[in-house]
Amino acid sequence: MKNIKNRFPFFDFLLTILTIILLGTGAYLIFLYTGDSSANSSIPKDVDDIASTIDEVDSNFTGIKIITEISNDPNTPFAIQYPQSKHIAFNDKVKKYIKRLKYDYLMNIADYEQDHKNFTSEFNISFETFQHPNGLYSFVVVNHESIDEQNGKTNIRTFHLNPETGDMPTIAEVVKTEEEPLKILSNVAASFLAENNTTDHALSDEEISLLTASNLENFNEFAFTNEMLILYFTQIETDEVIPIVSIPYSDVNHLLALDFQLSRNDLVKKENESSEQQNNKDTNEKEKSDSDENDEKEIPNAKRVALTFDDGPDPAVTMRILETLEKYDAKATFFMLGSRVEFYPEIAKNVQEAGHELGNHSWTHPDLSKASTEKIFNEINRTSSIIEEVTGEKPYSFRPPYGAFNDVVMQQTDLPVALWDVDTLDWKHRNGQQLLASIKNHVKDGSIILMHDIHPSTADGLDAAMAYLQENGFIFVPVSDLLE
Ligand code: ZN
Repeated sequence: MKNIKNRFPFFDFLLTILTIILLGTGAYLIFLYTGDSSANSSIPKDVDDIASTIDEVDSNFTGIKIITEISNDPNTPFAIQYPQSKHIAFNDKVKKYIKRLKYDYLMNIADYEQDHKNFTSEFNISFETFQHPNGLYSFVVVNHESIDEQNGKTNIRTFHLNPETGDMPTIAEVVKTEEEPLKILSNVAASFLAENNTTDHALSDEEISLLTASNLENFNEFAFTNEMLILYFTQIETDEVIPIVSIPYSDVNHLLALDFQLSRNDLVKKENESSEQQNNKDTNEKEKSDSDENDEKEIPNAKRVALTFDDGPDPAVTMRILETLEKYDAKATFFMLGSRVEFYPEIAKNVQEAGHELGNHSWTHPDLSKASTEKIFNEINRTSSIIEEVTGEKPYSFRPPYGAFNDVVMQQTDLPVALWDVDTLDWKHRNGQQLLASIKNHVKDGSIILMHDIHPSTADGLDAAMAYLQENGFIFVPVSDLLE
């Protein structure tokens, strides 16, 4: 383990959505410098010169917009997504970071081009938004870059914003920084890291104690959700996945700065909520086994529809979707990214425990129709392995990212391919109400509906969509029931 920047291949949440920006100043100086050496025409003059399509939509989080930028230049493909607000300092900070990443990517391509011809490259940036009960936003920006399918690396960087004041608190402002509380935080983080350390790239005890050593800098990358503090350990160089721990407030509340502590009442409420969820689950499991014998009875004239959710699991959205599915006693199918299963094993396990079907959606979401045989094989089979390792169950089917596949892809797996006929475009409109509209217009008996369990808007709109489908005589089946 080296104490260098973050370099990790694999992992990109993203799908078709991604974005970026660029407008910086530091990078521009370097461009001027390289611009003189016109001998190498492959070095771009400016990151801003690459043809791209930029889109802006309101997110589900008040005051936050999502900027999406997709490259139109086949030599430098990228898909970038990042948040913006009404606060200029925050906006500049994010844009500067994105521009820096984009610039590095272009330079890496230019470098590689010196000795190589005809290679592909990939560059994605996506982000997730979380909110502390006190209103603070945390944005977790994940970027994935790979050139010629080799130099894959993934980084995570977190940004924080008080949407009212524009404050951007750092770790030193959100936790107690005295020696004693910091030591406790370090111990708590270490024990959570050790506990989650069950995947095939287990960290050694030594690595864990290095990562979580009682030094504020080790906790630089953090996010506050409604229920917990998430820590991202990006300080090591690894070609594997970034270690993450999610610690419930009940375990760290006393270690947080006053503004970020939950009141005793709120803490108790959260604990009750989570034990209530557990109780509900237990009751449901009992009901499920009671009614299992009747399950196979076919309802005459019932129309069948398969709800499918791609690109997860996600700690916030997937859990909300599970609740809605449970309300309708419906079974759905989740096409998971292996990299995300490794990130959030407990969420994947929850999906399996709730009785839903698991599907394989590749490890990093590349366009497999353009990938080498070896990469295709690894993307699919590594994902099947982690799904089985984490949930104890094998995936039933495979959904190629972007629906893109060919004979070579098919030869790398025995899993049946599961595409879709109703595309809700939920990743694009990010509008809960539009989910139903897009389903209404296209659904028919036997339809497979494509959604994504990484967008809060999809969780928002699901209840109305399912109510509509149920009223109109549809029953919800796992996708394998509809694959012939
Ligand atoms: Zn996808």
